[in-house]
Amino acid sequence: MASRIFSGIFALLSFPVLFSLTIEAQSPDLSKAVQEFVRVGTSKVVLTHVRVIDGTGAPAVEDQNVVIEAGKIAAIQSGGDMPAADNTTVLDLRGYTVMPGIVGMHNHLFYIARPNLNSRRHFDDPVVVPQMTFTAPRLYLAAGVTTMRTTGSVETYNDLNLKKEIDAGKLPGPHLDVTGPYLEGSTSYFLQMPHLTGPEDARQTVEYWADRGVTSFKAYMNITRAELKAAIEAAHKRGIKVTGHLCSVTYKEAAELGIDDLEHGFFVNTQLDAEKKPDACSKSAGEETLARMDPAGPDAKDLIATLIQHHVAITSTLPVFEGDAGGGRPPLRQQALDAMTPEAREDFFLLRQRPPSAPAPKIDPAVLWKRDLELEHAFATAGGLLIAGPDPTGRGDVLPGFGDQREIELLVEAGFSPVEAIKVATLNGAIYLGRDKQIGSVATGKNADLVVVKGDPSKQISDVENVELVFKDGVGYDSKKLLESVKGRYGQY
Ligand SMILES: [Zn+2]
Repeated sequence: MASRIFSGIFALLSFPVLFSLTIEAQSPDLSKAVQEFVRVGTSKVVLTHVRVIDGTGAPAVEDQNVVIEAGKIAAIQSGGDMPAADNTTVLDLRGYTVMPGIVGMHNHLFYIARPNLNSRRHFDDPVVVPQMTFTAPRLYLAAGVTTMRTTGSVETYNDLNLKKEIDAGKLPGPHLDVTGPYLEGSTSYFLQMPHLTGPEDARQTVEYWADRGVTSFKAYMNITRAELKAAIEAAHKRGIKVTGHLCSVTYKEAAELGIDDLEHGFFVNTQLDAEKKPDACSKSAGEETLARMDPAGPDAKDLIATLIQHHVAITSTLPVFEGDAGGGRPPLRQQALDAMTPEAREDFFLLRQRPPSAPAPKIDPAVLWKRDLELEHAFATAGGLLIAGPDPTGRGDVLPGFGDQREIELLVEAGFSPVEAIKVATLNGAIYLGRDKQIGSVATGKNADLVVVKGDPSKQISDVENVELVFKDGVGYDSKKLLESVKGRYGQY
């Protein structure tokens, strides 16, 4: 698997850029800090002789010209050479593929730190959640993420202000759907989350943050049905959607309460957990339900039908579970290790190892992994809206951006074709956000949010890692430079 590590580096060396008359920055609005990462800044750009994966699930189309003008996709034509012209960049992209910018739907702007973590996997309470305001937006953009939901915020004012700075061209990063503070019940593992005191508190919390500009909400593991109901009603009144990483409320209960989305595939549904009591999280937190839910059986069929009937999306977050999926997994990419602080790297290696004294898990995690993949595929096949994100927290081995790419690869493991997997990670997210008229696919008239990768992800999905250029609103960002700028910093700020 070493080729996974090195392919990106060689691609950067061989990138055949044919600048004609270029480099004149089109966007005086971009700050110097952002300009530093701009490789293509003319108002007109023509990607010539490029393979197009359009994000709709359609097969790749060979040898196309994609014309970008004033931030939008102006035309998609059959491939041809282009004469140089004023204020136009012409790129010869033979051997490259263009696909839509990733729409990351379970992406965070924070890190989870475990104080004094040791080789027995012990750490001191409390876990703390530091903001990654500097590194995360750059890592996302470098990997091709052009729009993302923060999926639960810890420093909500920070995230709202960051969104403004990015949109104003002052800082590099993707477009943000800022999620309000986690809507958590009366107890929580995380000190930094609000602890709701009842439905009225849930309503007030939603209204307070909606007034301040958040555009989504996320309910968390110990919320009660009454609190969730109040939160959903208040959010829907404002046209804002609610997702949940649930435990105290089952998937079916949440669907019937009107939730819009459920996180973590089918890993955290608790409806068949033994000892599940209403409004309380079960000890198994969903594992028993997943083990019991045969994808071909009546429980799964009934659940999937309920979710689809209530228009509930499911967010696949496979990278955060992959560490438990069994052997034969590729090593973490060198570029991802390079992005971490030495301390984050050390924690990653500690968390990766199972201490010999640890008791064997009750349910084989490899079995749960397989079940979830089957259920996610069955849900999408039945017509459910499956969206995707990496959940870059957990064990330290899922990083912003790198995790988004890995999620696409794991969807292929779940049985999606490569172009279907790309659709889940791009157009489906745009549909969920109600932004599919503007983003999510390579189509004339849409925003030029595009990723240029070396190779052909429709044949070899790991080519999604070979990012060369990321266009956001028609401006082409240098992936390698963005990565360079955060080297050794992820885990710190
Ligand atoms: Zn998460």
